[in-house]
Amino acid sequence: MIKQKFQIEFICPYCKKGKTMADHIADANVSCKCSECSQVYVCDLKTKRVEKARARASPNSPRKPTAKMRIQ
Ligand SMILES: [Zn+2]
Repeated sequence: MIKQKFQIEFICPYCKKGKTMADHIADANVSCKCSECSQVYVCDLKTKRVEKARARASPNSPRKPTAKMRIQ
C-alpha cells in the first residue's frame, strides 16, 4: 500500500490555537471539537477550509423554542 500520507492541518477558527490533523483527503466534511476552546467547527477535507459550525444545527442540542417572538 501507499505509505506516504497527506498531512492536513486545520486550525480552529475560533481561538486559532486548536488543531485538527487529517491524514487523508476525502470528499467530506468532518465536524471537530476544538481541544482548546471546545467550539465546534467543520473541516472540509476537499477544499481544506475550516468553517465555524455555529450555523448548523447539532443533533446533540435540539433547537430551543424561540422565546423572542416579536409581536407588532
Ligand atoms: Zn479553538
